[in-house]
Amino acid sequence: MGSIIDFHTHIFPPEIVARRAEFLTRDAWLEELYGSPKAKMATADDLIASMDAAGVDVSVAFPFGWRDAGLAQECNSYVIEAMRRYPGRIVGLCALQPTAGRRAIAEMERCARAGMPGFGELMPHGQGYRLSDTKLLAPLVEAALALGLFCLTHTSEPVGHSYHGKGDVTPVEFQAFIAAFPTLRVVAAHWGGGFPFYELMPEVQTAAANVWYDSAASLFLYRPEIFPTVARIAGPRKILWGSDYPLIAQARMLGYARASGLTEEELALALGGNAAALLGLDHAG
Ligand SMILES: [Zn+2]
Repeated sequence: MGSIIDFHTHIFPPEIVARRAEFLTRDAWLEELYGSPKAKMATADDLIASMDAAGVDVSVAFPFGWRDAGLAQECNSYVIEAMRRYPGRIVGLCALQPTAGRRAIAEMERCARAGMPGFGELMPHGQGYRLSDTKLLAPLVEAALALGLFCLTHTSEPVGHSYHGKGDVTPVEFQAFIAAFPTLRVVAAHWGGGFPFYELMPEVQTAAANVWYDSAASLFLYRPEIFPTVARIAGPRKILWGSDYPLIAQARMLGYARASGLTEEELALALGGNAAALLGLDHAG
């Protein structure tokens, strides 16, 4: 059995968790998502404890789609430190504010030098731009391609119930983004807001050649059959198991994926095989 890799977790520095009320006033989007005391925040140590308890080998971790570019930098430094403290267990992605222009590119370069393989989670709806604003995003994507980084972006369903942080990054927005940057490897969080269903259309399947889907928060959104359904339509190699920890406990999301009806082989791909290939872990060991 290969490694179990959670592709979607959020961590924050302990000072932000401890002084949460103060930081909520510094970033309007943080206030929107974490204003309720019920919205959990976790540190790298909390994440490692959860991984140990649930049997997760590696977690892909990132703070949050900050509106404030300075706070994004501060949190990236914390994630870099977490990668050094827990080598091989935490793989960080770089949080960026694309509207910060050159500053965002410099930050991306700094994080890539520190060993981050990608950037995200982009939260365009909260950060104040659109994923379809390809003119704004082009310099950032160009830099990412030069550095060999992939992108992880929030996406959400254009239908169904509303919830905190849902936003309006729909399959339409997502299609504009991947059409503009076909060579960028992109992970669409939360099952692409339903984008994989459109891979039944041959031209959409072609356009999505470099796209993966993570299952973050799936338990709140879909019946477990979403796993075998996406495997059938888009292929089992495009599924990345992700929890959205600490929103959902890793152990609970693992149980949900395991009971979804994927074959053993597909499950091994979804729980870690695909992630290892995307992260380049199968060679590095
Ligand atoms: Zn998200």
